[in-house]
Amino acid sequence: DKLLDVNGLTVSVEEKEILHDINLSINKGETHVLMGPNGAGKSTLGFALMGSPKYTLNSGEILFNGKNINDETPDKRSKDGIFLSFQSPLEVPGLSLSSFIRNALEKNRGKRIRLWDFKKELREAMELLQMDPSYSERDLNVGFSGGEKKKAEILQMLLLNPKLAILDETDSGLDVDAVRTVSKGVEHYQKNRDGALLIITHSTGILESLKVDYTHIMVNGHIVKTGDASLIDEINEHGFEKYLELYAEKF
Ligand code: ADP
Ligand code: MG
Ligand code: MG
Repeated sequence: DKLLDVNGLTVSVEEKEILHDINLSINKGETHVLMGPNGAGKSTLGFALMGSPKYTLNSGEILFNGKNINDETPDKRSKDGIFLSFQSPLEVPGLSLSSFIRNALEKNRGKRIRLWDFKKELREAMELLQMDPSYSERDLNVGFSGGEKKKAEILQMLLLNPKLAILDETDSGLDVDAVRTVSKGVEHYQKNRDGALLIITHSTGILESLKVDYTHIMVNGHIVKTGDASLIDEINEHGFEKYLELYAEKF
């Protein structure tokens, strides 16, 4: 039941190779965590999987549901069922959060969605995330606090219901309560949908109530170690030092 299969992927940004020979397989319904020091290339992997045009794939392939998507646009990948929540979500004056999500949903499904049905779904998801309903009519991310922006990202995820959700530091800069709420939203997605998750994180608050199947550690653009959920506790306690050494031995 392979959903994502990345084979020997090498990625450059502005002529500089950032990711080297990345191999990563994610099955349907699995949750993977990607950890690593600042600048390791975690966000780059997220952007490359989403197809951001700034990132050049030099070699290797990204298979999604068995199909090579190397040359697909971000729009097409979104239609295929890939979702990326950004580390720093964009502010879009003049476009309400509600319209933004409804547009994205209609684009993905290729048909109009009845306003009544949409509003109901939106309301339920906002309740789960403890977002004030008034936020849905506010301009996308404009004047939102860090926590509200991250909640808005999770809200999009819950409504779009992707096959693979990539969450890039969705928990960074949030207070304890916001982390818990965001985590609840992710837990809801994990339990009620059959989607897979790739969670990029520094801290582990967001992971507390989640089932984690695999943990990957990235150093200098290489995945140097893959293990189970126990790796997270180990990193929490001892940091990445051991893996910097492992990197030096291997590469
Ligand atoms: P992480 O998310 O693990 O902190 P990033 O993927 O953001 O790491 O960055 C990996 C490396 O790629 C860094 O050295 C960073 O400076 C470089 N990089 C990422 N994006 C760009 C960009 N748009 N232009 C130039 N360098 C970039
Ligand atoms: Mg493979
Ligand atoms: Mg990053």
